[in-house]
Amino acid sequence: MKEKLLGKTLDELKAVAASCGLKPFAGSQLAQWLYVRKVRSFDSMTNISKAARETLAERYEIGVSDPAGKAVSSDGTCKYLFRVSCPVGKATEDSAVEAVVIPDSDRRTLCVSSQAGCKMGCRFCMTGRQGFHGNLDAADILNQFLSVEDPDSLTNAVFMGMGEPLDNYEAVSRALAVLTAPWGFAWSPKRITVSSIGVIPSLTRYLKEQKCHLAISLHNPFPAERQDFMPSEKAWHLQDVLALIRQYDFSGQRRVSFEYTMFAGWNDTKRHADALIRLLKGLECRVNLIRFHRIPDFPFECSPQGVMEGFRDRLENNGITCTIRASRGEDILAACGMLAGRHKKEENHD
Ligand code: SF4
Repeated sequence: MKEKLLGKTLDELKAVAASCGLKPFAGSQLAQWLYVRKVRSFDSMTNISKAARETLAERYEIGVSDPAGKAVSSDGTCKYLFRVSCPVGKATEDSAVEAVVIPDSDRRTLCVSSQAGCKMGCRFCMTGRQGFHGNLDAADILNQFLSVEDPDSLTNAVFMGMGEPLDNYEAVSRALAVLTAPWGFAWSPKRITVSSIGVIPSLTRYLKEQKCHLAISLHNPFPAERQDFMPSEKAWHLQDVLALIRQYDFSGQRRVSFEYTMFAGWNDTKRHADALIRLLKGLECRVNLIRFHRIPDFPFECSPQGVMEGFRDRLENNGITCTIRASRGEDILAACGMLAGRHKKEENHD
């Protein structure tokens, strides 16, 4: 398999240029073609000599690929399926991941996948149920930005698709570098949010090294209850995740938010709201309440609307900014992992 150019830094592209007999400034030209002009073939790189383009094509591939499937919701949400080949030991495994584009007034947010499947095993998540099939490389992550329709109209990105981004920190941080560098996509870090269940070793690095926003999947303030739904609590305690977050300033450019999926009777009582208030006291943050969409063989329902509103009001009255997130794309199974899960099932039936 040829090496992919997508995901390489400017310095690495300069080295590629030099190895193909080009002057170092051709590295900047390559970055321009890949990340600004977003071309899909070496032939389109018209200011690079034909001979050099041929050498490049012999040794490298660009790393872009069209989606293998697409579903459009009546509310405009669009879900794409991408095929990926992930290294598993010495072999590679073919898999499928999803990217979702969510239009909302003047915003167009891309929900990005970072892994095929996931190791974290959250009980309420379809991706978790598929198990782990491998890490995406930076090219696979960036391809989601490049191969959805009208990529230049994307305004924001959330790493909330399939996988735990901080369990694939090297590839995610490389993709973030390309997305935010002046020679890359030149996005402001304020346009990007990375979500995590709180993988403490790479969260420590993320907080030190990155400027993008952070979203923590919290879902329950009580450790024993949280661990029942999210086995990761055993390894990385929420208390320790919060202690780490509190070492950083979130009153400026970078924001932290907490994702809280509402399950009727499990995490939506006054006891839970009050514990959450105590847990987040004094922290500049936002809580997003998320409607739970039923999944097969999991006996929980979403909290009723009135309960969600009461929960939100209790948090708001105690100084915590809290919103109920609008459901999007329900008719195309937009909840994380559902399309790829169905795709796998269909493949197995073939
Ligand atoms: Fe993995 Fe996120 Fe699903 Fe948990 S919710 S299993 S971390 S993809």
